[in-house]
Formats: sequence, C-alpha cells, structure tokens
Amino acid sequence: MYRTHTCGELRLEQKGINVTLAGWVQTVRKFGAITFVDLRDRYGITQLLFGEELNKVLEENPLGREFVLQATGTVSERSNKNPNIPTGDIEILISSFQVLNKSAVPPFTIQDDTDGGDDLRMKYRFLDLRRNAVKKNLELRYAVNRAARNYLHQQQFMDIETPFLIKSTPEGARDFVVPSRMNPGQFYALPQSPQTFKQLLMVSGYDRYYQIVKCFRDEDLRADRQPEFTQIDCEMAFVEQEDILNMFEGLIKSIFKDVKGIDYAEAVQRMTWEDAMWHYGNDKPDIRFDMRLLNLKKPGTVYTDKTDSAVLINGADFKVFDEAETVLAIAVPGCSEYSRKQTDELTEWVKRPQIGMKGMVFIKCNPDGSYKSSVDKFYTEEKLKAIADAANAKAGDLVLILAGAEERTRKAISELRLEMASRLGMRKDDEFKLLWVLDFPLFEYDEEGNRWVARHHPFTSPKPSQIETMINNNPVIENAADYLNHPYANIKANAYDMVLNGNEIGGGSIRIYQRELQEKMFAALGMDKEEQLHKFGFLLGAFEYGAPPHGGIAFGFDRLCAILGGSESIRDFIAFPKNNAGRDVMLDAPATIDQKQFTELQIKLDLK
Ligand code: ASP
Repeated sequence: MYRTHTCGELRLEQKGINVTLAGWVQTVRKFGAITFVDLRDRYGITQLLFGEELNKVLEENPLGREFVLQATGTVSERSNKNPNIPTGDIEILISSFQVLNKSAVPPFTIQDDTDGGDDLRMKYRFLDLRRNAVKKNLELRYAVNRAARNYLHQQQFMDIETPFLIKSTPEGARDFVVPSRMNPGQFYALPQSPQTFKQLLMVSGYDRYYQIVKCFRDEDLRADRQPEFTQIDCEMAFVEQEDILNMFEGLIKSIFKDVKGIDYAEAVQRMTWEDAMWHYGNDKPDIRFDMRLLNLKKPGTVYTDKTDSAVLINGADFKVFDEAETVLAIAVPGCSEYSRKQTDELTEWVKRPQIGMKGMVFIKCNPDGSYKSSVDKFYTEEKLKAIADAANAKAGDLVLILAGAEERTRKAISELRLEMASRLGMRKDDEFKLLWVLDFPLFEYDEEGNRWVARHHPFTSPKPSQIETMINNNPVIENAADYLNHPYANIKANAYDMVLNGNEIGGGSIRIYQRELQEKMFAALGMDKEEQLHKFGFLLGAFEYGAPPHGGIAFGFDRLCAILGGSESIRDFIAFPKNNAGRDVMLDAPATIDQKQFTELQIKLDLK
C-alpha cells in the first residue's frame, strides 16, 4: 500500500497514530540537524519532520522540488502551528521514507503565485495542473458538471452519446475535417454541435436528451475562444418555448445552488432582442447595472416599435449629429467632475481601432445644476439639460454621446457602457444576474453574398404568426441597399439566449419539425433541392416519420465555469487548452504527419 492517508486529511485528533503519506516535495527547509519537508498531493499539504538520523541520509541524497516521496511516521502536534492550512496543527515525525521518483528542476515554481509566464505554463501544463489555483478551477468545473447531471437526471433527461465522425452539418462556422482512409477522397467532419442528432433523437422518442459534449469549430480565434469546447447540450420534445425557459432556468439555478450556495430565488428577467439592442446596444446586456442608452435617432427600420428622441438634437445645425445614422447617449453616474485630461483619455479610448469611433461628445451635469458640454457652441444649456434628463442623468453625472453608423455606434456605446461600469466597480465577480433574451431575428443579412443566413441555425422555427410571411415572400433581395425593407428582415425566431453578467452562456430554439417548412427554410438560405438532399436528406427524411414538436438549448460549459469562477478566461477552466493561435504548445499540435499516412490516405499536399 502506497499510502494510508492523503496529505490533506490529518488533524490533531489523529495524534499518535502511524501513517504513510505519498506525494510531491513542495519545499525542503533545513534547520540545523533537522529538516522540514512540505509534502503535497491533490488534497493538501502536510509537514514532514526528518530528525537527526534521517537528516544524515538526506544530506547524502538530498530531496529536490517535485520529487515523489513516500514517508512513514507518527502524527505529532506542531509546536509552531500554521493556521493557514487545514493540516497546520500537526506534522509527521518520519521514521522511514523512500524516494519513489526523482524530478528535474521544474521550469517554474508550483505555487499559487508562480513565476511561470503563460507560454511556459502551457508547455508544461502537466506541472501547471499541480498548482492549487488551476486545481481549484478544475474542481469547480467538475462540480458544475455534477450539478448539471444531477438536475437533468432528476428531470428524466437521458445522456446519449452522439458520434464525432459525421458529415458536415453547417451551423455557421467552418468544419474541421478528417480524411477517411477506407473511403479515399472522402472526409468526415467533426460536429460543430450534435444539433441534428439530438433532433433525430426526438424523432426516435427520447423526449429528454442531454450530453456534456465536445464541439468543434474551425473559427478564427478571438480572445476567449477554443477550437474545441464543451457544451451542456439539451433537447426536449412536446415543448413550447415557455417549457424550455422554465426547465433551463431551473438548471442554472440548481447549478448556482449546488456550486456556489446561491439561492437565485427571483424569476429570470426576460427581454426581447429588440429591447436589448435598443436599450443596451447589444444582444447580451449586463444588467447588473442600469446605464441604459438614450436613442437620439432611430435608424432605418431595424427597430420596428421604438420611438427616438431626435427632437432633442434636431435644429442645432450640429453636422456630426445631423449626418449620423445613429446618435446614442449614456449617463455615467458621479463622473461630472472628470477633468479635461480624463475626458480626452475617454475620447482616445473610443477612437481606438477596436472601438472605431471618430470622437465623443460629453455633457457634464454639474452638482450645482449647471451644464457644461463639448458642444456648447451648438446647444443651449436648456437643450443640454433636456438631453441629460432624457438620458436619466442626475446632478453629478457625465453624459457621453457617440454618433455614427448604426452597427458600429451601437457596438461602441455598449463597450463604453461596460468600460465605464468596470471603472466604477459596478461589475462585481460575486454578483450574478441572469437574463433571457428572446425573439431574435430569424435571418441575418450577408452582405458579401447579398443573401439571407440563419441567425441561429437553419433548424430554428420562425414565430408561428410569421410563417406565412416566410412562405409567401421571395427570399431574393433585389436591392441590397434596402435589405432592411425586405419582409424577411423583420421575421422573428422562436429562439432564446441565456445571458449571465453580460455573457451569452446558452442559446437555443424551438425547431422546425415539418418537412415542408424545413425545405422552405433551406431554400430561403439559398440551398437548392439537390443541395438540401445532399446535406440534410437524412433529417428531411426523418421528418416524414412522425417528428414531434421539439426544441432545445446548449450551454457553453467552459464559459459558465469561468464566470462562476470569477475569471475572464475559459482557458483557465480547461485541463489542456489551446493557445490563441489554436495550438497545443505542449503537444506541439497541429503538426505534419508521416509520408506513409499521406500515402495511405491517398492525399497529396499542395501548399501555397
Ligand atoms: N446547437 C446549438 C448551438 O450549438 C444550440 C441549440 O440550438 O440547441 O448553438
């Protein structure tokens, strides 16, 4: 037997008993004729005390950091207790020991505050994983996994595995492909998600399915993306949107309770996509704080039932506002006393290429009730007050205004809103706010191809009241400049996203389950009959054999863990992540393969 106890488990109650521990040497400290060793394993750290005799053995064969050690001895009370660790009251008086394996000097210290940079830690990830900080994250991940499984099991969901070697089922990203040796010239694709399989399982009658599953998307990696990531993937039959929202609100609340001990008693707020875009500038608003946008102009026909406050800026002959497609303002609490330097810095911030604005206008709502602005020349104090009031600014607030093209400006002000909230400490890691965003547009306009693409995926059903609009109108966009006036632009989907603290943590939809409507949807996306059958013949076929109404959702498991762990980075919650270039620097993958493998696959490279 290698050990009787772990390094995290012994307390004063066990004083006097004989134990054997095994683990890694964290530190070796010599004090004259005796030596203290901190021994570490997954469960904690225990102090070992080597007396005079064994000390001599150690002098001849010194222990190094990360040596694997087995040691036997008696649990004793420490004279110098360490209140910072659970085993801090005891130490083991060692009677015999054995080095089970030596270790090279690790390239960085295996400590919470390590001296290892990111790249080095990724290269030696197996050592990085020994660090407490990383271990805590993986423990949290496992706790989320368990909580999700418990809840779903209680709700009679069945975990059913689906294949990884499949045919390409486009969901908006590029596929990873795998050549088939047995079928030369043919390729599998790795699933972007199990979407069509889970729908087929509904046709098969497994009316509550889930899987915690890897998905693969060959996308250009933005900051916090991984080419392979994990979803909690779920599907239900005989449900309407309301059933899904309730069931999965329950899932997330149950995870909150089990993992964080948080009782999220309130109902999850709901907001339409249009409201989210109008009031917050994006479709995943952080609602831990208010700071809503004031829309000083309504662009085109995107926002059908919204009224702008254009009267407040019109007639002042201020060209920047007059000529802009969109003018948006936020009131930042308590910042009216910003200095010139600070407003200049903010202006530079919005001009950075990532934000892309040409400038920024501000109104200071001074505590004494006066108003001062960077556009004093154009607007009377009365007008400035009216704008500030409409933006819900109070005395002491600073109103920031951006103007420009619709999409860019809305995105920019939503970034500015988050930035200001971060600066003001309004985005706390330990505060959690959930939100359902509903009624997304069914289609998105693809400028390059002058065509419609599915905003979610092609299996999402339109709002029942708008099916007619979809069926009765030609998808062709005659006039690209006027695409917003095409009837398809206003069709909304039975789709929903769950948002947590400004992050999309899950998304799904009620599906199309009739062959004719699914064919119509594919056609709307520009797929002719032949392509439909080639790509999705199996699904269209299945819909002819009693497909029940169904819908589902998938949660981004890595991201959910990161948010619950108070981190920005999903990488910290993945045992073996890829870097920003999609590389595994530990394996040095991707890599070339042997000529023999190419020959077997009958593949010749033609690298440009
Ligand atoms: N398969 C979808 C996705 O990965 C989720 C869903 O519609 O259930 O986004």
